[in-house]
Amino acid sequence: MNSIVMGRLPLYARILLGMLLGVIAGFIAISTGFEHAIVDWVKPWGIIFLNLLKLIAVPLVFASIITGIASLSSISRFSRMGVLTLGLYLVTTVMAISTGLVMVNLIQPGKSFTQDARSQYQNVFDASVQEKAEAADNIASQSPLQFLVDMVPENFIMAASNNAKMLQVIFFAVLLALAILSLPKEKTTIVRQFLGQVNDIMIRVIDLVMIGAPVGVFALMASLVTDFSGDARVFSALGWYAITVIAGLLLIVILIYPLSIKLFTRLKYIDFIRAMLPAQILAFTTSSSAATLPVTMEQCQKELKLPEEVVGFVLPVGVTVNMDGTSCYQAIAAVFIAQVFGMELNFMQQLMIILTATLSSIGSPGVPGGSIVMLVIVLTSVGIPVEGLALILGIDRPLDMLRTVVNVTGDSAVACIVSTKVTTVD
Ligand code: ASP
Repeated sequence: MNSIVMGRLPLYARILLGMLLGVIAGFIAISTGFEHAIVDWVKPWGIIFLNLLKLIAVPLVFASIITGIASLSSISRFSRMGVLTLGLYLVTTVMAISTGLVMVNLIQPGKSFTQDARSQYQNVFDASVQEKAEAADNIASQSPLQFLVDMVPENFIMAASNNAKMLQVIFFAVLLALAILSLPKEKTTIVRQFLGQVNDIMIRVIDLVMIGAPVGVFALMASLVTDFSGDARVFSALGWYAITVIAGLLLIVILIYPLSIKLFTRLKYIDFIRAMLPAQILAFTTSSSAATLPVTMEQCQKELKLPEEVVGFVLPVGVTVNMDGTSCYQAIAAVFIAQVFGMELNFMQQLMIILTATLSSIGSPGVPGGSIVMLVIVLTSVGIPVEGLALILGIDRPLDMLRTVVNVTGDSAVACIVSTKVTTVD
């Protein structure tokens, strides 16, 4: 009976149900002192589900980029799509950061933060701040062109064996696709067919993995709630900061994206959100846009009917390059810390935040807390004390869940716009 009811519910409703039940199970475990049961028996299912999603990412990205680009009629069509995609990513990122800056200057969450709370947080999070600052130091001491060096793999197998090196896989796939595109069609028929079929098979694998999504999401939420139970007290002083981040993210989702979708596509925003809901819920529970990528791609292709060549290129690139939620949050976090330390940031410094937050959101990997190390670079660029990171680390996970939803939504919105432009131009 249960399985009949579950089977009839649409995917997003089943995942949502899993999430809700996970939260309830987490709270029940806390109140009955059974947290360890969640850790021992429930959490592993969440990890298995996450691993399954990550497992699909590299072959899917590789096959879909090559199939997508190779199906374009010419290299010039690809460069048009590439320029449009990167341009839109840049514009949406700058808009997201500006939204964050407006919200944090309006609400001024740092002004209501007591000095007592400040020293208490610094004591608690000192060690992890040191660690992030060291990692950021390493990044800052590299050449400004290091990001380009990092993009070009010296060995494909090594790149493909590490999900964090997705940009290297993308680079190699684009290179191969361009080579295929420049050769006569009859010389590449078998490779095209083979990769096209790998792509179809991977999409089928996503369907199979998603059968377990409600259980996976249940397990992830239950373990998140139990993991966080001890930190609840830490959150209270950060209420206004959290509200500012949430308000900034909300503005992006209810203003910037609907406007862009309305102006540049023929889609209704409500249909867009309905189609993206499973990916958004997954982004929320996993805090990882990279882990969500297979589902984002599937929803864009199957539900929104976006062309394969756009989905296969725009979304994998977006996972690392475009993070609207993250960049909005970085701007808010930087100004919040400055406010707590009694620093007034002038216009030039806020402009500097726009620049560095744009670059650092491009450099942040799509994994939980991926942007924290890059935030150190934003802070140091305008002389905000790095120790301030201690103030926001405690509440970072729930805010990370929310900004990941925006990151995934932003990539998909850009994919819709690029699809409309590419199909209307040709
Ligand atoms: N968790 C984010 C993502 O995966 C990155 C971050 O903001 O830390 O998109």
